Amino acid sequence: MAKIKEKTLKKLKRKSFWPSIVLFLAFLIVSFTIVFAGIDLFATYIIGSKLTGLYEQAMDTGIMMERAVQDGESIAYGLDHVDHYRRDPSDIYVTDSVGNRVASTGDSAPLFDQGFEWTLGERCRIYKDSKWDYGQEALDDIEDIFDFHVPELADRAFDRAPMGHGGNTMRSRWLQESIVEQQFWMYVPVSLNGKKLYIKCTLEILRQDVIYIMALGGVALILLLIPLIFLFINTILNIRMQRRITKVLYMDPVTGGNNWIFFQGYAAKMLGSVWNSRKTYAMVNLHMERYTNYLSCYGSSQGEELLECMDGFLRARMKRKEVFGHHSRADFALIFQCEGDNEEQCRNYCYLRLRSLLAELAGLQPERKLHFHAGVCMIPPVEAETGKRFIKRKNVDVDQLFNFANTAQKSSHTDAEQIFFFSDRMLEEQSWEQWVEDNMQNALSAGEFQVYLQPKYTPTDRRLVGAEALVRWVCPQKGLIPPSRFIPIFEENGFIMKLDDYMLSKIAKLQAEWKVQGKKTVPISVNISRAHFTQEGLAEHISQLVDGYGPKHSLVELEVTESAFFDDKEVLIDTVKQLRAYGFPISMDDFGAGYSSLNSLKDIPLDVLKLDGDFFRGEDEMGRRAIIIRETIGLARELDIRVVAEGIEQREQVDFLAGLGCDMIQGYYFAKPMPVEEFEARVAADA
Ligand code: C2E
Ligand code: CA
Ligand code: CA
Repeated sequence: MAKIKEKTLKKLKRKSFWPSIVLFLAFLIVSFTIVFAGIDLFATYIIGSKLTGLYEQAMDTGIMMERAVQDGESIAYGLDHVDHYRRDPSDIYVTDSVGNRVASTGDSAPLFDQGFEWTLGERCRIYKDSKWDYGQEALDDIEDIFDFHVPELADRAFDRAPMGHGGNTMRSRWLQESIVEQQFWMYVPVSLNGKKLYIKCTLEILRQDVIYIMALGGVALILLLIPLIFLFINTILNIRMQRRITKVLYMDPVTGGNNWIFFQGYAAKMLGSVWNSRKTYAMVNLHMERYTNYLSCYGSSQGEELLECMDGFLRARMKRKEVFGHHSRADFALIFQCEGDNEEQCRNYCYLRLRSLLAELAGLQPERKLHFHAGVCMIPPVEAETGKRFIKRKNVDVDQLFNFANTAQKSSHTDAEQIFFFSDRMLEEQSWEQWVEDNMQNALSAGEFQVYLQPKYTPTDRRLVGAEALVRWVCPQKGLIPPSRFIPIFEENGFIMKLDDYMLSKIAKLQAEWKVQGKKTVPISVNISRAHFTQEGLAEHISQLVDGYGPKHSLVELEVTESAFFDDKEVLIDTVKQLRAYGFPISMDDFGAGYSSLNSLKDIPLDVLKLDGDFFRGEDEMGRRAIIIRETIGLARELDIRVVAEGIEQREQVDFLAGLGCDMIQGYYFAKPMPVEEFEARVAADA
């Protein structure tokens, strides 16, 4: 595939919704992380502020104790005093400097071996209580006693709804309810004559604390959800758009089915996969013959309808793991999976399947006769490599495979034969064609195309009365190349126009030179390919070309093949009339080969009729064919057309034709095509 096309396709195929999906997911993850981290942070903050409150409360008590002791009172008095004045009396525990109990209230004590530092603005020490149940989770790490999990808190907060008919009071009581309590001891740094003071605190988390935390989290979540929803909608729209692009990219505008781009991609993947590499496949080019004629007869919309119909037909006949697509005009590409144990069986399978497919296709429109051809390129399985379990077909070139199938398809020339398999010979032919195309222009400039002349003799007195100019490609590397090897290629690519002009000017020049040199001149015919008749102003063009050298027009005869008569009869007749008006004799070449029509003799003003060499070859030497030859010559004479018999190799043929009044004979019997110098010598000898 061309690089630019490949790039554009890649761009279109790239799934543009992936960035949206990634962004959406990333945003989702980030949003939730932020919300949960925020909730956690907020919870920690609330717990922290509660602990600070407890610390301040403990400090107040401590200072109260300190004052009492400084006033000279005993610790016991201090405890009573504090107990009396504090709003919220809590247990107090006093030890001496080494940790022995001095005095205490309550029935529990701090566990001095389970304490830790806690930072509440200032650092303070916290100890577990000897009697409080901290639950299973807080057993490993002492600090975990303040580590409350938000989901657990939420669970507890909503374990019961506000009940009863108390209205606001009920609700506020419900909100004020403590859902988590944690008891611990806090060391209070006051001076008590060398004693240490510990106060028991209770951390309470109320239902409303949790509800605050949850509400804040909810608000944050809603705020983050808005862009998230927007992103979500954007992603959905992107996916839908991508689907549409893919559909447009892979849908054939004519058939509505798979197009070539889809086929290429799918086929490459299918053929190159590990699972399919050991199977035999066949690439088929299914081609409808004379589609252009169909379009001219029934119009382009009917033509498109037919292709659509073919698409539906093929869809119904393809199996799983097979694919097809519309290539161009009336060509479809198909890939069959072939069944069989060996190449022969696989080929046979493919042939039989195609045969029934083509037969069915021909009857697709009962009222019209449709013709189909198929070219097949077999795709052999990949040989198993020792030691490797998985093998893949490497470098699957779908274009190349289709080209091979197409080459095979084009090698079919008759309606009777319909299925052709690609072979190495075709590949050679293809590379030959390429060589010819690459070298033709240089060869023309370098004068490698040389004129050979084949004399025409009268059958009775055997005088040399004319000649045909035949081209030979004398190539320095490949030697002498016969026209059959390159003329069909030139006719296909249009280079024949240049070559014919070249030959025409060579003959015009020769005739002019012979005239100047006072040599004997005979009319020489030049082949004008049918492709020339599409050229506007052909008659003037030829006339100007010849006039460039100045020979008499009657010495330059123009040979037109009969097939040219089928292209555009009107144009041809018109051009022939003009050429004759310029004085060029016209001969119809290869009469009797292929589609002969005596009718054309009536319509086209001719000077010479060239009977094709095929007339004189084969079994029925002088039987039925002899009658046709006799009648054709008779008819031509009546119409005042001279007859040249081509390809005459035997004396009996010459005698037979002499008897019928044939005007000239061109064939190996008299002479093969020869270089100009040799021809000049022959003419001189004949004079
Ligand atoms: P064509 O115009 O029918 O030319 C006659 C062909 O029959 C020539 O083949 C000639 O060598 C061959 N031939 C003549 N007598 C005999 C014979 O007794 N037996 C056999 N077996 N063959 C004989 P050639 O030269 O190979 O040319 C083949 C074709 O190539 C020509 O067929 C013509 O169609 C085309 N061609 C050759 N030169 C030119 C050219 O300059 N322009 C165009 N447009 N076509 C050319
Ligand atoms: Ca000819
Ligand atoms: Ca001929």
